[in-house]
Amino acid sequence: MKVAICASEVVPFAKTGGLADVAGALPLELKLLGQEVIIVMPRYKTIQEPKFSIQRLKPDISYSVIGENINPVTNTKALSEKNKICNGVKVYFIENDAFFNRDGLYQDKTGDYKDNLDRFAYYSRRTLELLKEINFKADIIHCHDWQSALIPIFLKTSYAENPFYQNTKTVFTIHNIGYQGLFPKDEFGKLGIDWKFFNMEMLEFYNKINLLKGGMVFCDIINTVSPTYSKEIQTKEFGYGLEGILAKRKKDVFGILNGLDYTIWNPKTDKFIARNFSLEKIDDKYKNKEDLQRICKLPVKTDVALFGIVSRLAEQKGFDILADAIEKICSMNLQLVILGTGDLKYHVILENIVKKYPKVISLHLKFDDPLAHKIYAGSDIFLMPSKYEPCGLGQLISMSYGTIPLVFKTGGLADTVTANDGFVFDKYKKEGLIKEIDKSIKAFKNKKEWLRLMQKAMQNNFSWRESAKDYISLYEKAKSR
Ligand code: ADP
Repeated sequence: MKVAICASEVVPFAKTGGLADVAGALPLELKLLGQEVIIVMPRYKTIQEPKFSIQRLKPDISYSVIGENINPVTNTKALSEKNKICNGVKVYFIENDAFFNRDGLYQDKTGDYKDNLDRFAYYSRRTLELLKEINFKADIIHCHDWQSALIPIFLKTSYAENPFYQNTKTVFTIHNIGYQGLFPKDEFGKLGIDWKFFNMEMLEFYNKINLLKGGMVFCDIINTVSPTYSKEIQTKEFGYGLEGILAKRKKDVFGILNGLDYTIWNPKTDKFIARNFSLEKIDDKYKNKEDLQRICKLPVKTDVALFGIVSRLAEQKGFDILADAIEKICSMNLQLVILGTGDLKYHVILENIVKKYPKVISLHLKFDDPLAHKIYAGSDIFLMPSKYEPCGLGQLISMSYGTIPLVFKTGGLADTVTANDGFVFDKYKKEGLIKEIDKSIKAFKNKKEWLRLMQKAMQNNFSWRESAKDYISLYEKAKSR
């Protein structure tokens, strides 16, 4: 099957969240399973030589290749197979300096870029033209989130009669229904499609343009990143106003859990951590705890439970109840390292609490991949009390490092963490969070019990192989629509 993956961020080129991890890992696995795959994304400022090897195709199109020369990383069959067979996936970059040669992907310090509709409409249209130019007759165009939602919209509107696309179907993956790509109605003309599509059943949402909604209406298959989330978004509580559209397309809505890229997130081979370790040499994990405590200027102690957070600082990630509970949490027998950026409100709350409890909390208000690795490896417990979570990668990463996740029972967290390998609370209240933290600290004191938990967590296998197989079945379904 010919598959074009269209995403606004792709690891290793650009990343603000989990979408980039998916868009970088799924194509490689699809290729290993025999599919013909390409990726198309915007060329941002950071995508430059010599950091990446980039070739020119046209004055406004360049490309790179991912998945070539992957170093042998583990002795697992799947990965050594990857080294042998995967000869890379081409990533095409849509260039337009006025739109993409900026510091941020979607926003700057003052907020979202004002011309985001122009930027991603340009990206979507140029992508559809590019596929024609390189004669890539995709069976499936797999789009992700509002940034590429215009592709299924254009295909069923301005490109509806285009012979090149007569046999192309679209799969549209929603990574987070809370981000919909809303724009003022008076920008509709920029899309170059008939005003008749601006109606409640299609692109209109309370008198605004809603790109996510449009993508959901015009794609052939809607998909989300975990089975539980695919059900949750069909309810008023989680649907963010789009539950009605989903109800109408109920038979076309599916959920596939994201996989984890074990070539990146592997304690045996991770280059960022102080000491590599494995299930067999689990004690070496504690060297990473010491290292993290030193880096974070926390007292170096093995017997106190070290909690880690790597997250966007947003209400969705549980920061509302966390902020309410933080005083109480700091008075408990624990240490807490927080890495993240996000809502200024939480920056301020956390900065104030650090001043009060400098020996308990260490705060890093930035995006820092190497430090994230150190936190996953060095912490005892990974705190992820998300209010809702489409899939979540943090809990999967932490488990592979024997760091026990503590989560709220929702979405992908409910699908991946159980009492067998983590801590799960089911009432979204600060009291519920505090109680679960208390429970985890008590469990941490029982060395034998803790070792068992770590082993269970590390034995999980959330590789992309199974998810990619599920995606191929989904593509087949889309083809038969
Ligand atoms: P999101 O909703 O943000 O996409 P996910 O859990 O799906 O949440 O994925 C988040 C990804 O981004 C994880 O790989 C996590 O380690 C990474 N991440 C989040 N914040 C930071 C940060 N401040 N520094 C480094 N990595 C981060």
